[in-house]
Amino acid sequence: MELMLSDELLGMFLPIVVYWIYSGLYAIVGKFDSLDEYRLHPRGEEAKNVVSKATVVKGVLVQQAFQVIVALALFTIVKDDGQAAKKVQPSYLAILSQLMISMFVLDTWQYFLHRYMHISKFLYKHIHSKHHTLVVPYAFGALYSHPLEGLILDTIGGAMSFLASGMNPRTGIFFFSFATIKTVDDHCGLWLPGNLFHIFFGNNSAYHDIHHQLYGGKYNFAQPFFVMWDKILGTHMPYTLEKRKEGGLEARPLKD
Ligand SMILES: [Zn+2]
Ligand SMILES: [Zn+2]
Repeated sequence: MELMLSDELLGMFLPIVVYWIYSGLYAIVGKFDSLDEYRLHPRGEEAKNVVSKATVVKGVLVQQAFQVIVALALFTIVKDDGQAAKKVQPSYLAILSQLMISMFVLDTWQYFLHRYMHISKFLYKHIHSKHHTLVVPYAFGALYSHPLEGLILDTIGGAMSFLASGMNPRTGIFFFSFATIKTVDDHCGLWLPGNLFHIFFGNNSAYHDIHHQLYGGKYNFAQPFFVMWDKILGTHMPYTLEKRKEGGLEARPLKD
């Protein structure tokens, strides 16, 4: 019982701690001049972001407060399911299939809602445009969005993938922390060599950077893991990474 309680608490707070640690590391790394060659935007371009970093931090903290409340409610529901089933630790194969299911459910939920938020002028103007104020994304801006967007896409999407996969809270701790790291990485603004996410996931910092540009609003809706819905439904914009004359890299679309 105590163990379950600690898993539940960890499931709520670890992804938040992970968010600030991982994005904090990127904030530090981003200060190194030696890594400028891996930046997707020159330093000066951050001025294009119309919100201050303090506003972004506050906005993200509001999202995370929502996350905690919904996670609390979620774990309360799961707790009532009976204790016996939860004491059995699933096999690694079962955990792996639960993780695949949860990634598929989260990707599907987020793709269609994210795309709809671009199709509906009302939703874009009043809700999703807030996330797009960061035309030059940076790591701790990953969860900067309207509280309703955070609630529906991230928190409810996360809850649904958790419930659909049948994972236990301990696997949930891992899944939510992993999804958090992946989302932060997609906004890091860097293309660092050796980043394993670039190998395993079509959606990554360059792919999502295209979406954050003005011309990218109709493409690359995938988040946070795989790009299959973009490919199936014709919203996939391939890109090349080219060296900028002034240094650093630029993710350039391969379509007009
Ligand atoms: Zn968008
Ligand atoms: Zn984004």
